[in-house]
Parts: sequence; C-alpha cells; structure tokens
Amino acid sequence: MPVLDGQSRLPPSADGSSFTSQGATNAAAVILWAKHRKHPYVSSSRILGIESSCDETAAAVVADGSRILSSVVSSQIATHAKYGGVVPELASREHLRAIVPAVRLALEQADTRMEELGAIAVTQGPGLVGSLLVGMTYAKALAFVHRLPLIAVNHIEGHIHAVISQHSSGDPCIEYPALALVVSGGHTHLYEVREGFRYRLLGRTRDDAAGEAFDKVAKLLGFGYPGGPIIDALAPHGDPEAVRFTLAKMKGNALDFSFSGIKTAVLRWVEAHGMSAEITARRELLAAVHRPSVDEWLRVTPRATLDLLASFQATVIEELLKRAAASAEEIGARSLIVSGGVACNSGLRIAAESAALAYPVFFPEPGLSTDNAAMIAAAAFPKFLRGEFADATLKADANLALA
Ligand code: ADP
Ligand code: MG
Repeated sequence: MPVLDGQSRLPPSADGSSFTSQGATNAAAVILWAKHRKHPYVSSSRILGIESSCDETAAAVVADGSRILSSVVSSQIATHAKYGGVVPELASREHLRAIVPAVRLALEQADTRMEELGAIAVTQGPGLVGSLLVGMTYAKALAFVHRLPLIAVNHIEGHIHAVISQHSSGDPCIEYPALALVVSGGHTHLYEVREGFRYRLLGRTRDDAAGEAFDKVAKLLGFGYPGGPIIDALAPHGDPEAVRFTLAKMKGNALDFSFSGIKTAVLRWVEAHGMSAEITARRELLAAVHRPSVDEWLRVTPRATLDLLASFQATVIEELLKRAAASAEEIGARSLIVSGGVACNSGLRIAAESAALAYPVFFPEPGLSTDNAAMIAAAAFPKFLRGEFADATLKADANLALA
C-alpha cells in the first residue's frame, strides 16, 4: 500500500527538536541527522532508489543489490518531443508532478512499506541541476522522516551497475578488470572498472554524446525525439556502406570520442540533396500521428535517406567499438560492459557480438539501459554494505565526476 500518506506517520525526532529549524548550520544539521537515524546498519537489504537526473522520473525497490522488486519509470518524452530535446525548466516541473506517485507505485508494486526498507538511494549527479534537486530533496525528506540511511549515487555508476547487478554470477559472469562503455544522451565515457568498484576514466566524448548525435540527426531529418530508437528501427532498411563518413581522428588521448564531425557531415549531405519536401512530409506525419510505426516512416522516407541513416548508425557503432576495443586492450580487460540508452541499439548489440572479442560483452536488458531507478538502488548496495551514508548536507552536483 502507498505509505506517503501524510503527517500522521511522522515519527518524533530523537531529541524532540525540529530538523528544519531556522538558521541551523550544516554541522548542526549533520549531528541532528545522525541522532535521528533509527539504525545505522538496518537489517533489511531492500533499497528504494530514486532517479531524476534528466527527463525520466524513476523509483524502484531492489533487494540484495540485484533482485528488482519494482521499477517504475515515468517518461517525459511526450513533454519534450515537440521541442526536439529536453527543456530543463519543463523537466523540473514534470519531476515535481511525478515523483510522489512514482515512489508510491514502486513501493506498492514491491509490496514493501517504508519501514521495511534498509535505505534510500538517490542520484546526486551528473545531470540537470533543477531535475536532480527534485529527487534529492524528496529522498532526503523521506530518509529523515522514516529515519533511514541516505545513499548518494553517481548516475554513471548507476548505468554500470545496471549490468553488474544482473551478471555478477552465472556463466559467463563479469570478471575484472572490466571495461565499461557508458553511452547515452548525455554521456559517452570509457571507464576501467576494478574489483571493489573502483573506476578510472580512460576516454570520453569531447563534444556531443553518441545519443545526442542520434537525437540531433533525427531532428534534422524530421524524425521525432528521441531519435535513437527511430534510427535504430529504420537503419536495417538502408545500406550501411552507401554513404562514406570518416571516423574522427583524435589528437591527444586516442581513446576520446567526437561526434560533432559526423553530425555536421549529415547536415552537409542534407543541404546538398534537396531534402526539404520529404522532411516536411515527416514533420507532418509526426504532427498527425503520435508515434508513427516503422511502415508509416518508410512511406515518407526514400531509399537514399534510409541509406544515410544506416551509414550514420554504422559509423557511430564503429567509432564506439573501435575505441572500446582499444581501451579494453590497454587495460587487459576480461569483460566489456556496455550501458546507457544507446546500449538499446540493435546494430550495436549485433556488431559487439559478432566482433568475436577475446572477452565476453555484457549489455543490460532493454528496460535497464535507459534511465531507471533500479540501477541507482543496485549501485547503492555496495555502499550500503560499507555503511557509506550521506547526510543532510548532501548537494546535487550537475557535473559530478565518477573518476
Ligand atoms: P541520459 O542518461 O543521457 O538521460 P538515457 O540513458 O536515458 O540518457 O538514454 C537516452 C538516449 O539513448 C537518447 O539519446 C536516445 O536517443 C538514446 N537511445 C535510446 N534507444 C536507442 C537506440 N535503440 N539506439 C540508439 N540510441 C538510443
Ligand atoms: Mg542515463
């Protein structure tokens, strides 16, 4: 049953004082928080995860770091679609609207009461600061009211744990050192992951993230937002070798990525091929139909454009896998983890599997690839075991680095 049902449940604080007393210093708040917490090491292994870093409001309950009892994701795609990308102010507003119902539903679906939780985990960053603040403030309030430990999680570490939590046992299972490629709308990063979840940044995009390139190319061509799933669905209908794009050459760190060049190359191609009529036809389709089917898209997308999409996707995949393989070699990786929204891409999955790499490749199941809160609760579990708890001074950090 929902448990966020108001004031009557507020437990009295340990010393009878108010947490939100005017003028309380950070230090005073910390002491108060520590006194107030019921059990520093609670016996329950169930963690409520809360994620609000970008345009998904998500809540989940995960037991033992891997058993997903519930995972609720409230997507804002419909809100942002007409702008062709995420509008930060609208995102914060939508999070405010969705956060309470999302948490209630997650607890209800997990058949878990607040009293049965061991901790609350929340995304601290990176992300949009206004969005992060909504999840952070609500998580802090819940943790304080219910006297539960609060755990701060880095969103990127969450993406990595979306995979680790599902493949820490079994055959094959993730062995370390592992190479993690986190590839989404906001991130394209390569990390070395060592035993004990220690991270080292090996490479990152210097401009656009790969998912952002998918989204921008789709927007330019009159397909909706987000562009990744649409390009993924249409690419198999085109020839991936029809348009030659050059791979980015990186000065300095050869493990860094760049996707702005290919985005500009697509723009030049569009300008040179007089595509305005078909782009208008697609925009009209999008205005008339909420989510056009592949067949509907195919009717307004000539062969040459399908070739362009297929070639664009193939080049992005080649870029991702080339640098991932080089990084894996550099660290002697025994596993490759691919995570983030772009990990949904079927072309990337096929290419990674058919590359016959010397180590196994692990992808998250599709529901855990894009932003979700189960990955936040899963990433919090090792911190929970180590007693790594945050206090009332915890702040959202839009640029939080993992390593
Ligand atoms: P972020 O953490 O940056 O908010 P997510 O992890 O939620 O992003 O991933 C969203 C991104 O993933 C978007 O850029 C979207 O276009 C991309 N994406 C989702 N599905 C696919 C797909 N099948 N192929 C390529 N990109 C995809
Ligand atoms: Mg993400």
